[in-house]
Amino acid sequence: MRIANVRGRLVILREDLAVDVETASNGRFGSDPDAVYAEWDEFVDWAAGGAPAGGDPVAPGDLGAPVLRPTQVFGIGLNYRDHAAESGVAVPAQPAVFTKFPTCLTGPTAAVVLPSATVDWEVELVVVIGRRAEHVPEEKAWSPVAALTVGQDISERTVQLAGPVPQFSMGKSFPGFGPIGPWLVTPDEVADPDDLELGCSVDGRLLQQARTKDMIFSVSALVARLSAVLPLLPGDLIFTGTPPGVGMARTPKEFLQPGTTLDSCVEGIGELHNPIVAADGR
Ligand code: ZN
Repeated sequence: MRIANVRGRLVILREDLAVDVETASNGRFGSDPDAVYAEWDEFVDWAAGGAPAGGDPVAPGDLGAPVLRPTQVFGIGLNYRDHAAESGVAVPAQPAVFTKFPTCLTGPTAAVVLPSATVDWEVELVVVIGRRAEHVPEEKAWSPVAALTVGQDISERTVQLAGPVPQFSMGKSFPGFGPIGPWLVTPDEVADPDDLELGCSVDGRLLQQARTKDMIFSVSALVARLSAVLPLLPGDLIFTGTPPGVGMARTPKEFLQPGTTLDSCVEGIGELHNPIVAADGR
């Protein structure tokens, strides 16, 4: 199943058509895209039981962030060996965890405003939690996962790395620094949810390309380790880390430039297309 936020309303996507959930369910489920996770199992059962066919065409600009106000947004640093190496850091024995404050979330075609000249790209697989999870063993750790989506963990490197200690959560939380979408895909829809190609490019120039099987901590390992410390709540997001090819690690360093478009994709899920604009709107 694919679900999306179309002009602020929760929809199920069937091919290219959107079925409005509140209308199709006669109000059993509401229009708020964030509210569905509190009743995720009931929603999946209802949808599997044959939500009405039909639906309305969707234009790309109609799609908003599929999750708008999660309680918690986790980011994982250095989760691919080659990215740890390009960052000059040893392969971590524990996941490096930070938060992206939820106000940074934005839609799949939203413009990203540059607050500085040192803003970097990080394409990532993003996990959406659908069931409260506490102390979940790794072998069962896909069960709390509702869906997968594409994300960009956009990062302002000057703030992130300013001393006396790194400020990952601040450098990664400017408004618009969390594009996600274009929709959510349930894990049963992809051939192997532990092995998906992901990549990003700017104006057609490929910058990152990898497979999620190369993550140091898999999705299930991350759910197990995070839920060992604190509860994961319905609607929470996990940005699972970026592969090599970020701008900061290039020689010379490269950063996002106004007037370009950042394109991001994950196999079997979809694509983001985010215009990059200067603070003065250029
Ligand atoms: Zn990241």
